[in-house]
Amino acid sequence: MSNRKSIIAANWKMNITPSEAESYLSSFLQTFSEPTAVDIVLGASFVTLAKASKHITPNAAVDLAAQNMHPEANGAFTGETNAAMLKEVNCDYVILGHSERRSLFGETDDFINQKVHAVLNAGMKPILCIGESLDEREGGQLESVLSGQLKGSLANVTADQMADIVIAYEPVWAIGTGVTATPEQAQDTQAYVRSVLAEIFGDEVAGATRIQYGGSVKPGNAADLISREDIDGFLVGGAALDPDSFAQIVQAGIDDAA
Ligand code: PEP
Repeated sequence: MSNRKSIIAANWKMNITPSEAESYLSSFLQTFSEPTAVDIVLGASFVTLAKASKHITPNAAVDLAAQNMHPEANGAFTGETNAAMLKEVNCDYVILGHSERRSLFGETDDFINQKVHAVLNAGMKPILCIGESLDEREGGQLESVLSGQLKGSLANVTADQMADIVIAYEPVWAIGTGVTATPEQAQDTQAYVRSVLAEIFGDEVAGATRIQYGGSVKPGNAADLISREDIDGFLVGGAALDPDSFAQIVQAGIDDAA
């Protein structure tokens, strides 16, 4: 087992209204009433973040994440949200480069890199998503795709800044499909991701960086996945929409840390 603290994050996507978040939190925070052996993060929509932040005390078991952020400090960017707005609603993390942002909204590694720097400069922590499509995996491009995404999205990031960055490896073919990477596939790929981080930042930084797995994680497969050496937590979509189901996944992480 590594000495990295696992981080288990919910990505609610465009689900969970502010009032639904209130009932989610009242149930979830009853189960986890104080900090646990894993970091727990809830990734909410912008309006839901504002409401949720009112229910999260400084000593709560959970932190909040936004699902996106614009890299500029302010200006004429209709529909966008900046770092200062996120900080004001007690957001600690920002999910960046999710495959849906890349494929549906055309985000490039270069743009994601600008966001990574803006999030870090604002004192928040990026959860940087990377992952290959099925065609890329089957076409033998797995390593070049992941290495390209990492090098592009982390350009000009320093070794010191890596302490605040979480990587989420999410094979696109496993997101929302019910098809999970096998623990062996996830472990092998995440070991490769760590080797790319070592190439860029050195072994020490790579060994300390937390790498989540994401893609159809459920209560039934979480324990096996998180027992693997290079899997340091999860980014969870569908199974995190229900507080009881997400709590079971978090519990698998806590049990693994024991
Ligand atoms: C995600 O959206 O990041 C995700 C992993 O979704 P799901 O768990 O539903 O596959």
